[in-house]
Amino acid sequence: MKTVLKTLACLAPLALSACHAPGHRAGVDIGDWSLAATPLDRSAAALRAATGAHLAAAQGHLDQILAVQAPRTVDNTLVPYNDMLMHIDAASQECGLFSAVHPDEATREAGEAGGQDVSSFISEISLSRELYDALASIDLSQADALTNRVVANELDDFRRAGVNKDEQTRARIKELNEELTRLGQDWSRNIAEDTRSITVDSVAALQGLPEDWIANHAPGDDGLITINTTYPDYVPVMRYADDAETRERLYLVYNNRAFPQNAEVLREVLDKRYELARLLGFENYADYVTDDKMIGSPENAHEFIDRIAALTVVAVEREREALLEAKRRSDPGASNVADWEKGYLANKVREERFDFDPQSVRPYFNFPAVQAGLFELTGRMFGVRYEQVEGLDLWHEDVTAWDLWDGDDHVGRFYLDLHPRENKYQHAACFGYRDGVEGKRLPQATLVCNFPNPRDSDDGVALMEHSQVTTFFHEFGHLLHALFGGHQEWMPVSGIATEWDFVEAPSQMLEEWCFDVDALSVFAHDYETGEPIPPELVGKLRLADDFGKGSNTAHQMFYAALSLNYYDNRPEDVDLMAMLTDLQSRYSPYPHVEGTHFNTSFGHLYGYSAIYYTYMWSQVIAKDLYSRFEAEGPLNPDTARSYRRAVLEAGGSLPAAELVEEFLGRPYSFEAFERWLNETPDVGGPTS
Ligand SMILES: [Zn+2]
Repeated sequence: MKTVLKTLACLAPLALSACHAPGHRAGVDIGDWSLAATPLDRSAAALRAATGAHLAAAQGHLDQILAVQAPRTVDNTLVPYNDMLMHIDAASQECGLFSAVHPDEATREAGEAGGQDVSSFISEISLSRELYDALASIDLSQADALTNRVVANELDDFRRAGVNKDEQTRARIKELNEELTRLGQDWSRNIAEDTRSITVDSVAALQGLPEDWIANHAPGDDGLITINTTYPDYVPVMRYADDAETRERLYLVYNNRAFPQNAEVLREVLDKRYELARLLGFENYADYVTDDKMIGSPENAHEFIDRIAALTVVAVEREREALLEAKRRSDPGASNVADWEKGYLANKVREERFDFDPQSVRPYFNFPAVQAGLFELTGRMFGVRYEQVEGLDLWHEDVTAWDLWDGDDHVGRFYLDLHPRENKYQHAACFGYRDGVEGKRLPQATLVCNFPNPRDSDDGVALMEHSQVTTFFHEFGHLLHALFGGHQEWMPVSGIATEWDFVEAPSQMLEEWCFDVDALSVFAHDYETGEPIPPELVGKLRLADDFGKGSNTAHQMFYAALSLNYYDNRPEDVDLMAMLTDLQSRYSPYPHVEGTHFNTSFGHLYGYSAIYYTYMWSQVIAKDLYSRFEAEGPLNPDTARSYRRAVLEAGGSLPAAELVEEFLGRPYSFEAFERWLNETPDVGGPTS
């Protein structure tokens, strides 16, 4: 049943669970998995119909499995089970994507409603003893090792879902799953729909911001300039605006998004997940959710968080001193740095100590060139090519479609929805569309991001921040994982199907190429002169990026500790704000800011629940994976292809630790990460 859960990752939040849809057909062959038959734009009615038809088809396969009288075999039981999962996946992914990105509100709502139907179906079958017994009695004596592993893992998942509980307990579990699905949707919608804004009355308040940004924020008829809480506004203001008041005001509204609505939702989520975990025989939800991860237990997760936090102490202190020194230039008596000052001050330090102005690199990152460069680079490394697919009926004019080819082999198809618009998912994520099954259907996935749009300017130029380029590479790492890994025979191990705490590693590793001179020289060319980015500038970029990694890592451990502690306690012992304030002071260099409620827009508290630590865990492994590229050359195609084979193409066919060992020739270790964290450059004085 992980089939459905695996599509998470920063990666999309997936709707889970509610009532049955009528099983009428939508006038198309619902079992035609060819690319030509893939529907890509949906009216609300068509999406509802398709969801119903997929679930009806899934039910048909389930009936087929349960009707078998002869001895159970792979062919008469596991194959239809796999077919059933293909339909559940199609319904689930379409609903998940369109509820997040479709411009038409009715379609977004149809996606949410469909997501509930899918979850309900999953909840129902995951508690079906008949289905469990059917899978458990397949004769696997002649089957290969992978097929054996797939069945064993599925049976584990059934048991974790509660299939072996009594009927009354199973009924309550199903009810809880459905309520949690609804709460998860409320949670995400409350965040997505709550864009707040501030106004400033003169352009003086924008001093320090890039000229093109200011030009795009002309005063309205009332003379006021509006700044909102979406990333394209929020990130540059927090980094560049010289006016402290503007930054503080924006920070305050940003960190109150979805408050108070989501405080209430979160309380209910904690209650219901606690009850669910207890019914399933676990201490609490953190105990339940870490059980099938690489990390194994909440105790290990606490230990990991504290281990990483301890590694940051020296770097944090050094960085804090540097920020304070920068602040004292305008505020001589300053003794601390506020959370809303850190981005701006860090930027000042980068400018002064490393002579690095992040705006100086933006001309090298014009969006169309970055996208083309990403294709060029990954094409060379992995031996593939990208071809744009024209003439498809997509859900918005900004969306493009692409085929990935390896020689004559069609690896998969993907869609890019990369620019912001109203009511669209506001973060960056890779959404699945179809998980691949070898011989039956090609993998398809969608990247959803919010980068500057070339169509917003007269000359088609849209300059990106380097951090946005990094995000692009990161999400593209998920996409490649989904496509390369999508050629397995069995759905449960196809695509991004490794343990959850490994899924970020391939993406985090791909970020490394955004800091490599040779990689950047492929595409980072000045949009006016065509000159490649100078190596000295990349050197400064790397030094500047390095600055703050101790504090950022420590702050990430605050997030991880918050996520873990909310779920590793009895709900009645959790005071949402007291715990937040306490953990922030314990782990983060920046104390809680009075009057803010960051937790209500911390989307991962639902999707990742207790396991936000996974980002850092994956980072540790990503650094380890990259160490082989560092030794053999980041653009070395042999290394990249060995990685593609050993890690990406394997999907979930082996435990992640074994995939990593296959690629590195040894078990994974913390060494590369520790080395990186301790290599904090001396920021005690100017570097020249
Ligand atoms: Zn990610």
